[in-house]
Amino acid sequence: MHMRLFGKRSGFDVPRVNIGAMRLPADEDEAIALIRHAIDRGMRYIDTSRGYGDSEIKVGKALKDGYREKVILSTKWAPWVVKIEEGDDASADCVRRRIEESMRRLDVDRLDFYQVWNIMSREAYDQAVARGGMVEGIQKAMSEGLVGHTGFTTHDTPENLRTYFAEADWAEIVLISYNMLYQDYAVALAEAHRQGIGTIVMNPVGGGKLTEPSKVLLRLADGVGAETVPELAIRYILSNASVDTIVAGISKQSDVDGAIAAAEREGFSEDEKERIDAFLQLVSIENTGFCTRCGYCMPCSQGVDIPSVMSCIYDDRFWGLTEAAKQRYAHIKGNAGLCTQCGQCLSKCTQRLPIATEMEYARKQFGATS
Ligand code: SF4
Ligand code: SF4
Repeated sequence: MHMRLFGKRSGFDVPRVNIGAMRLPADEDEAIALIRHAIDRGMRYIDTSRGYGDSEIKVGKALKDGYREKVILSTKWAPWVVKIEEGDDASADCVRRRIEESMRRLDVDRLDFYQVWNIMSREAYDQAVARGGMVEGIQKAMSEGLVGHTGFTTHDTPENLRTYFAEADWAEIVLISYNMLYQDYAVALAEAHRQGIGTIVMNPVGGGKLTEPSKVLLRLADGVGAETVPELAIRYILSNASVDTIVAGISKQSDVDGAIAAAEREGFSEDEKERIDAFLQLVSIENTGFCTRCGYCMPCSQGVDIPSVMSCIYDDRFWGLTEAAKQRYAHIKGNAGLCTQCGQCLSKCTQRLPIATEMEYARKQFGATS
């Protein structure tokens, strides 16, 4: 697989697609075989976490028999995501305990990266970098050779991210969400890249959404020579010059092979990318005026989660992602089955949408009832 500099700060070279160890197979032997298959096929960076169930244990076992030397091993933790012990906090002492615990679980004597997990607010960032805080603890572990490098992962706002990148001289890499249908972080990615921070994209297929053979997206894929929607999605991300690598969640062999096949075909040409962007923009213009998720229609007296139901309708109607929409709809607590067609929300909608009619549509299209 083609390699790329993993940001100037880290100095590593990294393949274009790598191992996301969040959803490994439940069976340990299968998980080990899958991780080794990914490494044998050329994936190198492994993203795991203390918070991903038994992922660290499985990764550790997969890295026996000489596999440890072939990979860049990264794990992460933060108290605002998961508390392992009573009293866990963002202090240097606590992160030290978590680092040592992850090393035991992975059964390694060194972590290549230890990241601050999911900085999702300015408050969390400030806690992480405060005197005696997580970053200080990680840097101490780095000075002792337990950890090689550090960085952070985030779902914070693009505006906050840009300020973090300007300040975070300690961070060598960052992991953020970005995909063809969700480009809010494009500017932040460019800023990180400009600062020499290695950029990793998670969620390249939008949590599975972009694995669906939507007719709309297949037409787009066909126009630029991609065979499948996931290939289109991965190559689109790799066409962004600010993206160094992708972590693809691996649950089965085809996740590995599909991601590598897409990466081997590399990104799209400027002309192809322009055509994709024009198509995406066209669809966006067509659906301007649909639900903006502003929430002004809420609360519904019957408990319908109107913005979430509308979001499923959006994916179904404008992107042809009907199966993904159905799956998401099934998890909405207040689904359209609760709607009594009372009409009270109609006058509150900023987009003047026929919400009651849309609830009826959702009920028929997605099949579920409350
Ligand atoms: S029309 Fe349906 S969604 Fe709107 S307020 Fe009434 S019950 Fe809720
Ligand atoms: S008020 Fe209209 S646009 Fe806003 S969330 Fe409700 S349905 Fe969507």
